[in-house]
Amino acid sequence: MYREMRRDVESIFLSKGRLLNYLPGGKADMLRLLEYTVEEALLQGRKLVILSPRMFQREIRDIAREKAAEDGRSVVHLPSTHLPCPLINREIKIADVVHHCLSAGQCAYQKDFDLEIFRDILSGKREFSSSRQLLSERGMCPSRMVIDLAAEGFIIVSDYPFIFHQGWRRLIEEISTGPEKMVILMIEPYELLRGIDEEFTFTIHREDLSEEYLEALGGVEGVEEGGMRILKGIVESLRSVLEEASSEEGALPLGRGGRWGPYGELKIVERHRLIERLSGELNVNPEGVVSSMRRLLDLTFPDPSVRWWYANLYLFVKFWIEGYDAAVRFYVREEGRDGMRVTLLNPASVVREVLDEVGGVIISSTGSYPTWAYSELMGLKGDDYHLKIYYAPEGEEDSVRVFIHTGLTFLHRRDEGKWAAALETAREVLKEFLERYGRREGIYAVIFPSFHRKEEILEGFQPPGDVTILSEPREKSEAWWERLQEARDKGEGVLLMVGFSSTWNQMVAEEVPLRGALVFDIPMRPGPVLEYRVKYLRERYGWERGSFMGGFLHAFYMINSVISHNLLSSERAFLLLADRRYSTPWVRSALPSFLRSISSSDPYPMIDDFLL
Ligand code: SF4
Repeated sequence: MYREMRRDVESIFLSKGRLLNYLPGGKADMLRLLEYTVEEALLQGRKLVILSPRMFQREIRDIAREKAAEDGRSVVHLPSTHLPCPLINREIKIADVVHHCLSAGQCAYQKDFDLEIFRDILSGKREFSSSRQLLSERGMCPSRMVIDLAAEGFIIVSDYPFIFHQGWRRLIEEISTGPEKMVILMIEPYELLRGIDEEFTFTIHREDLSEEYLEALGGVEGVEEGGMRILKGIVESLRSVLEEASSEEGALPLGRGGRWGPYGELKIVERHRLIERLSGELNVNPEGVVSSMRRLLDLTFPDPSVRWWYANLYLFVKFWIEGYDAAVRFYVREEGRDGMRVTLLNPASVVREVLDEVGGVIISSTGSYPTWAYSELMGLKGDDYHLKIYYAPEGEEDSVRVFIHTGLTFLHRRDEGKWAAALETAREVLKEFLERYGRREGIYAVIFPSFHRKEEILEGFQPPGDVTILSEPREKSEAWWERLQEARDKGEGVLLMVGFSSTWNQMVAEEVPLRGALVFDIPMRPGPVLEYRVKYLRERYGWERGSFMGGFLHAFYMINSVISHNLLSSERAFLLLADRRYSTPWVRSALPSFLRSISSSDPYPMIDDFLL
């Protein structure tokens, strides 16, 4: 599999192609793919831009630095952070810089910029965080610093908002058409949504444009009242167009984490309807809407220090009108008395533009499931990209087999009698598993969907006394991983685990070789986000029984990664799925074609035959 990944990375560099990688193995595979991409960039002298979630950036930067050190190339890490802007005399986030710097290129502080002062950051001798102090001491422009450092660096590690930064995008265009080429690597595109959320969320009728705010603004020097009235009309128009918009596509589950919970709706509006309304309000022809909007805002807020305040509205209109599709997609976050909070999704299509220009690799792990929802969101459609899903190592297909225990199911949670019977059968299945494999050489795993389910099954359970069991604690600690490493080194032990992806990833990273795994129920994290994704699958793709399928696939990919990556060559490994729902044809048809599955109410003899 790694050979295949390496080949794919090479061909992307050669062909300027777009590759969307879906890596069931999670972070360990992601870092490996990253290493290949960095190596290839260095080899070919191509500038590499790595856009990744914040939580991975340090690790990615360190890998990049290690590789680039051999070659003497610079690695610049541009994190999303607060930086001081001398014009408005306050700290602004990089996301706000995007808004604020409508004056970029004209601002005097940009023109005075001297990159030499930041050389140590470029060479890695000083961390990026030290730039805050330098900027405020010298009264220099943070926006210009970010762009110049990116222009000078060979490998740039950064956050998604940079792709929306106008100056930065200009830089990409310049570099990619110049003699020095670049390639983009995007990791975990679900995080892109956070960027969009930060940049392009706009509350129509936001308090800024309410009567109260207008009155308050009366006291602000230089705000022009007539312009303010026209702006109010524009906001009303926007609001009515949004309210009339269709919502045929239903709700869109846009990611994981609290901020993208189960609220809001994806709506669609045809662009020309908005343009007609705005050209009426502004009294200009449709082609002139964006520029006259800008003029109006400049006239209304002539003082640049309050310009950041309207930038959101301007960008909203600009991206809407100049967006990629004839239809505009937006996400209504909340509707209430104070207004309508919407996130404009079309800016994500800039990702497609950048990829069109320079080519790139997008890596998603199981966290981005379903992958196609995110590719749509990035403006990638149909044959635009090559979706690659990496499964097992080549040639090892016959070494892994899936067995399905049809003797139990965890479906009837609400039926006390059936539930008690399921738990009892689970204990018997577990007992037999431990009896058969607990004393064998090698490491075996028992996987529960949650700590709660683990406790339910283990209540009153007596494991065989001479079997070494390593049970995952609720609070994972160094001690747990040390015990795991010890077991790995000795090649023995049964792990009792729950289905947290961090555990899988750590096991892959620690190269824990699994010989077999018993999986109870459907390991997944229940909760509104998963439910929301499932709803999306059902509504958008007519995928019935999506809830089970979603959880199943999620679990399967993780399990697949642990087994297939850590399989000792010449050994065989198995996966025992203990729930009869796994044996239904529609689930089995979703298994990767190389994996053969066998259902039985008494699978252990068959497993032993396979292992012989
Ligand atoms: S260009 Fe923008 S960030 Fe830079 S100093 Fe001027 S206003 Fe501040």
